[in-house]
Amino acid sequence: MAQLQDKVALITGGESGIGLASAKLFVAEGAKVVLVGIGEDGLESAVAEIGEDHAVSAVADVTDSAAVAAAVRTGVDRFGNLDVVFSNAGISGAVAKIVDYPEDVFARTLAVHVGGAFHVLKHTLPVMNDGGSVIITSSVVGLVGFGDLSAYVAAKHGQVGLMRSAAKEVAPRGIRVNTLHPGPTSTPFQDDIEMTATGKSQADAAKDFDAMIPLGRHTTVEEIAKAALYLASDASSMVTSSTFAIDGGMSG
Ligand code: NAP
Repeated sequence: MAQLQDKVALITGGESGIGLASAKLFVAEGAKVVLVGIGEDGLESAVAEIGEDHAVSAVADVTDSAAVAAAVRTGVDRFGNLDVVFSNAGISGAVAKIVDYPEDVFARTLAVHVGGAFHVLKHTLPVMNDGGSVIITSSVVGLVGFGDLSAYVAAKHGQVGLMRSAAKEVAPRGIRVNTLHPGPTSTPFQDDIEMTATGKSQADAAKDFDAMIPLGRHTTVEEIAKAALYLASDASSMVTSSTFAIDGGMSG
């Protein structure tokens, strides 16, 4: 039996990386997906890859509440009320010491991660079926500190507070809310962070990061997608308000 048979899942940042890998796995498990993001071309090619019978896309910057509301409407009009919401869109911000950190980048990074997840919750919870699941992609640095990434670290910790608050509010409806905490995961997003942080080539920077991970390697997007599937499905029916690390032991 497929784990998400006839479920509807909305995924932000669904056109690439972790979001796209999760969308593909969710569809393989019987779901329909609503992909929300800012890159129209990427969204269109993701829908084409997954198949128009199973996926629809909507362009929205998650910092724009009205745009998120419209994207949610697009998804619900196409496939019906939502069972799974995966708030996953993100940016890395700058790599700089706090004293040098650009204030506008700090504000934008918080706005995308915390404000964005807030907008997603605000507009999806009213159209979620009771018993659904919300997943917010935080990070290993939503559990531990890391130098030179203050906005990203603060934003990823902030998402945990938002998750715990939402989990309390919607528990009476049987809706579960959890954060996912990937460690370094092989995507261009992470490659950029690692190269900027170390000043090294992609391969050498990746080796430096591998050395920080007890299991000794980066996570794959498919491994994160499997964790998202666990939180999305009934396999995790008693799991809410939890922080789920998939980081090879990095936060331990
Ligand atoms: P990714 O492929 O760059 O995914 C991020 C997605 O979010 C992109 O599709 C991006 O669109 C979209 N996005 C950015 N700003 C947005 C906005 N304002 N509104 C709507 N969509 C927006 O990278 P990823 O590695 O899969 O990251 C996905 C999530 O995992 C992020 O929240 C990230 O912080 C988190 N994470 C990643 C890692 C890692 O090692 N990769 C580790 C821990 C946590 P564009 O590409 O068009 O800009």
